[in-house]
Amino acid sequence: MLDTKKSQLLIEILQTDLLKWFEESKRDLPFRRTRNPYFIWISEIMAQQTQIDTLIPYYNRFIDNFPTVFSLALASIDEVIKAWEGLGYYSRARNLHQAARIIVTDYDGMMPATFSELIKLPGIGPYTGGAIASIAFNQKVSAVDGNVLRVISRYCNSCDDIGEATTKKRITRWIESILPDEVGAFNEGLMELGAMICTPKSPKCLSCPIRSGCQSNAAGTTGLIPIKTKKQKQRIKKMEVGIVKINGQLFFVRRPDTGLLSGMWSFPIAETAAGDGQDIKKKLEENFSELCKPIFIGTSRHVFSHIIWDMSVFIFDQDNRVCESTLNPYYISAQRESRSNPQVTFKALSQVDDLALPIAFSKLLALLT
Ligand code: SF4
Repeated sequence: MLDTKKSQLLIEILQTDLLKWFEESKRDLPFRRTRNPYFIWISEIMAQQTQIDTLIPYYNRFIDNFPTVFSLALASIDEVIKAWEGLGYYSRARNLHQAARIIVTDYDGMMPATFSELIKLPGIGPYTGGAIASIAFNQKVSAVDGNVLRVISRYCNSCDDIGEATTKKRITRWIESILPDEVGAFNEGLMELGAMICTPKSPKCLSCPIRSGCQSNAAGTTGLIPIKTKKQKQRIKKMEVGIVKINGQLFFVRRPDTGLLSGMWSFPIAETAAGDGQDIKKKLEENFSELCKPIFIGTSRHVFSHIIWDMSVFIFDQDNRVCESTLNPYYISAQRESRSNPQVTFKALSQVDDLALPIAFSKLLALLT
């Protein structure tokens, strides 16, 4: 990091020129027109995995649905998941909901104002805690995300691996040692610079407000810095999905409370080696006493952060089997099951929108038409 006499000048450039640029050039975003910590919290959680420009309509819709922490706490988890639809990484929505309930019960509905209290809430880590504490409450803490690590590594021409926890700690400590009074604007300015100018590929150095102090620009190393070790490769899992259709309705199950897409509705799904429909058939037999032959209708791939599902999709069209009576016995037994078991449900294709169905499964509906 910068620690010589010359560095004082470079620190001043970083503070002054960055703040000036941010004041003049920042994007006009709905959550930048407020210091309401609830709005800032929602926007920061959304921004964790979604580009700022993309999240604006989702943010507006979410705030329309839940304008206060009380309305979020009072909502059911299904309503919150529904409002989150399209953003993915649904554990964020679940954590927001849980944290809202804690804020209402333990803090009388007032967002905690310090970094140390904020990071005790579900889903709020050091970055989000730092962003809320500094932007909403002007507390002198840093908010270091990938953008900030990149900007600072380049500004200081640091060859430390930003994938290492020790590097992140060192950069965090260094930023905290140089935070100006306008701490919220400074943190936001670093993030904005990383998003708009000091981008991962082809940084726009000629338009950069802090170029005169940038050590990487001076050394011609912007294409090499930051150093980052490669992420672990995503694991590919072969899966079978079973779409059971009975009397024109589709069968859904709620996923377990932990793990991928926890608590959300899905088509039944099973890991498989063969991919011939027999593994998902076996699983479905937990719900159905007799099933027709699985018919393969297509494949789909869904990429999560660490896992890829390669899905073979099968339909079990119970309506197409020959029934001796006009009443479909499979429908009756399955409907009885769905009334007594909140973990399963039936929906006609036209009603599927009512379910919080993650995109990994909603995109499979196209295979039915
Ligand atoms: S001069 Fe270039 S490398 Fe340096 S901070 Fe600005 S955009 Fe990044």
